Amino acid sequence: MKSTPTTTHPRHARDTRARAEIDLAALRANVETMRARARGAALMAVVKSDGYGHGAVPCARAALQAGATWVATATPEEALALRAAGIDSRLMCWLWTPGGPWREGIEADLDMGVSGTWALSEVIAAARETGRTARVQLKADTGLGRNGCQPADWRELIAAARAAEAEGAVKVTGVWSHFACADEPGHPSIRHQLDTFREMLAYAEGEGIEPEIRHMANSPAALTLPESHFDLVRTGIAMYGVSPSPEVGTHQELGLRPVMRLVAHVALAKRVPAGHGISYGHTYATADETTLALVPVGYADGVPRHASGRGPVLVGGERGTVAGRVAMDQFVVDLGGRKVQEGAEAVLFGAGDRGEPTAEDWARAAGTIAYEIVTRIGKRVPRVHLNELPELDEAPEPAGGRPDRA
Ligand SMILES: *Cc1c(COP(=O)(O)O)cnc(C)c1O
Repeated sequence: MKSTPTTTHPRHARDTRARAEIDLAALRANVETMRARARGAALMAVVKSDGYGHGAVPCARAALQAGATWVATATPEEALALRAAGIDSRLMCWLWTPGGPWREGIEADLDMGVSGTWALSEVIAAARETGRTARVQLKADTGLGRNGCQPADWRELIAAARAAEAEGAVKVTGVWSHFACADEPGHPSIRHQLDTFREMLAYAEGEGIEPEIRHMANSPAALTLPESHFDLVRTGIAMYGVSPSPEVGTHQELGLRPVMRLVAHVALAKRVPAGHGISYGHTYATADETTLALVPVGYADGVPRHASGRGPVLVGGERGTVAGRVAMDQFVVDLGGRKVQEGAEAVLFGAGDRGEPTAEDWARAAGTIAYEIVTRIGKRVPRVHLNELPELDEAPEPAGGRPDRA
């Protein structure tokens, strides 16, 4: 079913400069693919940072329509914004700082990641104020060395959580962790983290914690490591149709469909003589008399300046390369003998099946990861959501259960 494209940007300009088309049918297909990969495990759709640049609300809705039962963001502010937009599934967030909106989180029925006793104390205080039970998910640092509770501090955190459960202030709904190197299958840290997670989980359960969900897998682990699936997989990048890393495979090999297509329209096409310097710093000069196409997107739009002289573009149906430096608002492609008209499409990346580059190609050109390529696309680029399904009046009961609004 097709619906009118919607955009999260004011539509006064008719998106003639540039737009990021977001194919929600592809996103739903990717969610189905990942659910099949995850076998019995539930799927948590990670839509942090505005859905990796794809638009958090439409992506969360589409993921839920395709069978995801949980949604997650990094920050509580992102999660609260999703609640305000009507996302009523289980909703988790994990990046809290002291003084954070715990009370609002409890009132919005969020599942709140807790990585240390300071956070648990703040949740308990907020729960007492609201008179409600807070849902917390205890995070174990099994080796990532980032957020999460160290094994040496786990005993203390578990004891505090058990006491708070006895008081009715909190319910531990999850025990979870995160991998450091899941995108490098076979990395020795993976096994070590799995073993540590099992030990920390067993300790928590031995102390009487009864988590509803135990989870560890991000996209690369969901794709390559069935024993990491536990009750639920947290998928971000794969849902957007982008491969987590070349080692895990290309998106085609993984059966994923890229969701974002970044397209601009040529602003100027002109002949210039041989030996003409191009863009700031004159790092490129034309070899012969040639045609230049001016592509009206730049680093302010998220086109990496590190891809100067290297970024691939499909201009008027043929492949070209960024000539010279990427500027704030524009860059140039040397078309050689070819001609294009102003207004011709310049596709920076897309599905890759019609000659256009992919986000993975841009990651290689810029010396980064494809996650960064899609996530960094700037606010000035309107997102145009395609193939959005109408919202169901009566959503089916999700497998993980609805929040019990006690
Ligand atoms: C971002 C994130 C994910 C999703 O990772 P992908 O590799 O994009 O699937 C899962 N868990 C945590 C804690 C994250 O921060």
